[in-house]
Amino acid sequence: MNVRIAQNSGFCFGVKRAINLALKAAEEDDNIITIGPIIHNPQMVQKLFEQGISSVEDLSKVENRIAIIRSHGIEKNKKELLETKCKKIIDATCPYVSKTQEFGKTLYEEGYQVIIYGDENHPEVVALKSYVPNNEAMVISDPKELKGFSFRRVGVISQTTRKLSGLQEVVSKILEISNEVRVINTICNATAVRQEASLKLAKASDLMIVVGGKNSSNTKMLAKICGDNIKTYHIETSQEICKEWFDENIQNIGITAGASTPDWVIVEVYNKIIEYIGNGEKQISEFSEIPVFKED
Ligand code: SF4
Repeated sequence: MNVRIAQNSGFCFGVKRAINLALKAAEEDDNIITIGPIIHNPQMVQKLFEQGISSVEDLSKVENRIAIIRSHGIEKNKKELLETKCKKIIDATCPYVSKTQEFGKTLYEEGYQVIIYGDENHPEVVALKSYVPNNEAMVISDPKELKGFSFRRVGVISQTTRKLSGLQEVVSKILEISNEVRVINTICNATAVRQEASLKLAKASDLMIVVGGKNSSNTKMLAKICGDNIKTYHIETSQEICKEWFDENIQNIGITAGASTPDWVIVEVYNKIIEYIGNGEKQISEFSEIPVFKED
């Protein structure tokens, strides 16, 4: 049996940056909080907790503390409140997310009806919406939600982790009901690259294991993309893996991981699979030792 990992699996630039900022802050101070879990990965959140960094949702508990804003960003009014209450703010909002927030504001100021393609309950989208003045952005996750609407000028931006094909469907519908459409593709390249590599591996595998938080939208998207092609399991840790998954029909096992999945979790998953399939491969200690799937 082959066990291979998709290229670009695991932490993306924005998440790596946020985690590094948090760990650096923890070395220098011990009164550190993140506003909401810093990333959608319970194992990493627990690890940070062990380093003295706790997650706080209630903003009445931020007085005189050092607050880290996570890579998804935070609502504008909450950031302003933190600025008045906290001893210091470390803004770990991913620069690509910040850019999307700026686009939302600019499109509004230029007279466009802003439409955000994304999940209205996702923290990144909740924050993004708050940067469009007067709460005037519309959030849609499906073109069907546009039924009955018509617009003069529309500016479209997207949650960074969405699929390009989904954005294309939304834009196509908006074109039918608007005079002018301006689209800024704010889908993060890290997401697209990860999705593409996962799809390629899924097509070359008999089984896919997608590793990452069950609450991570980019990981769920990878599970969907893989699941549309081949039998796929979405797991958070190696403990969820069952030996029965790897029967004699399974020759090629693919692993991929969301942008918020730490390397050590992926290594544990790889080692657990090797243990179960028992094909003589040795267990590894470093993420870089996992065989990466490359197209022939
Ligand atoms: S997926 Fe992209 S936009 Fe989101 S945190 Fe990572 S690098 Fe930033």
